[in-house]
Amino acid sequence: MRIQLPNKYYDVVVVGGGMVGASFACALRRELNKATDKHRKKNKPNDERKKDSAEISILVVEAVDQANSPGQASITQPSFDARSTALSYGSSQILEAMGLWQQLSDTTCPIKEIHVSDRGRIGTTRLHHEDHQVDALGYVVENRELGVVLNTVMESATSIHLFCPASISAIKATAAGMDLVVKSDSLEHSISTSLVVLADGGRSPICEQLSIEQQVQDYEQHALIANIGFEKMHRNIAFERFTDTGPLAILPLKSLGKQNRASLVWTLTAQQSAEYMAMAEEELLEILQERFGNRLGKLLHIGEKFCYPLRLSVAREQLRPGLVLLGNVAHTLHPVAGQGLNLALRDVAALASTLRGAVADGADLGSMDVLQQYICKQEFDQKRTIMFTDNITRLFSSNSQGKILARKFGLITIDLMPSIKQGFAEQAMGLSING
Ligand SMILES: Cc1cc2nc3c(=O)[nH]c(=O)nc-3n(C[C@H](O)[C@H](O)[C@H](O)COP(=O)(O)OP(=O)(O)OC[C@H]3O[C@@H](n4cnc5c(N)ncnc54)[C@H](O)[C@@H]3O)c2cc1C
Repeated sequence: MRIQLPNKYYDVVVVGGGMVGASFACALRRELNKATDKHRKKNKPNDERKKDSAEISILVVEAVDQANSPGQASITQPSFDARSTALSYGSSQILEAMGLWQQLSDTTCPIKEIHVSDRGRIGTTRLHHEDHQVDALGYVVENRELGVVLNTVMESATSIHLFCPASISAIKATAAGMDLVVKSDSLEHSISTSLVVLADGGRSPICEQLSIEQQVQDYEQHALIANIGFEKMHRNIAFERFTDTGPLAILPLKSLGKQNRASLVWTLTAQQSAEYMAMAEEELLEILQERFGNRLGKLLHIGEKFCYPLRLSVAREQLRPGLVLLGNVAHTLHPVAGQGLNLALRDVAALASTLRGAVADGADLGSMDVLQQYICKQEFDQKRTIMFTDNITRLFSSNSQGKILARKFGLITIDLMPSIKQGFAEQAMGLSING
């Protein structure tokens, strides 16, 4: 529920109510509700030292106002902007366990097939949902729609306090956790907490304040994103096409009336993206058609365009006593393989269930023992997903003869060898989680 004045103490403070921070607050609330129900069913006598799960207080501090009117995600909120996200099959299961999938499923578009190709060269691979015994390999959701669902849950849950617009202006470690100064309008509020879950995105001034460094590799690429309209139906196919300027992804969206729609993520050099951002629609459609080919028939429209610089950024520390990093602040990935939010959602689920266990044991939520349990669950998944995305980005962004050959044989090999194809599909579906 939205609050005007925060309490002096919260068990958990989530900094950033974007896709990851909001998902975490909803996941933790769900986990704690499950624990309370179990506790009540068993009718256990209350251990004096232990808090009941229902008593765990959660505050979400978000800098940008998310709701212009009830249930509507604002266009100014950076996480829930005009992008679309390919959610893996694994993420749909996590959102289902969080009780959100039913509300989302009406607005998502299933991906039944993924078609990977290299422009102008032989070698393609196709992944079909039927080969993996699932209804869909993944689902495409418009970020705004996800924002509406997450905000609606945060606004209605009495166990979540949403303080917005507000931002953290100071943070200090204490023996019992963290002390924060939260600024809203021109007022400052002092809050203490056992655990800060930092989910404030890729450029975090709080990390700077705490001297947490990021290991950064600039890909020197930009992603131009827009919704596109075209002649033929997409038949729920997601296209991943590698071109001499970099990878290009076309993700199927729900049709609007008779309009066939998809979300375009086009990787370009900084100079090209500046040129294309300024280009007239007709001219840009011609270039895109030439790059992508005719699989969707004639390309008819490009909607409003947005541009994002791309880099790999990994925090050198994800844990400190009373602090854990989640989402882009922990790891920002190239969007080419659609793994960033999917990995973050697996982190979210692992952290929420670890904290539920800690509450049941009466442990201090911000203790390193508890936080280490979380990172042990996720370390392998994080490393593998970061490596998978970085390798794909480098392999498919280079025009060196060696990389072109590797791509050609790579795609043919993936297509011909069932075990490699299965491994590739599992990573794309978010299923190859902990080895
Ligand atoms: C073009 C593009 C396409 C992508 N496509 C996919 C995809 O298909 N599949 C996929 O899995 N991933 C994809 N991603 C990655 C995905 O978008 C990110 O993983 C995700 O946005 C990370 O969310 P976040 O909440 O960590 O950070 P953000 O989205 O940056 O949100 C951070 C939030 O914190 C708030 N905030 C910042 N500072 C403060 C403060 N001091 N106090 C309070 N609040 C604060 C901000 O207002 C914001 O709401 C894509 C990324 C890009 C750029």
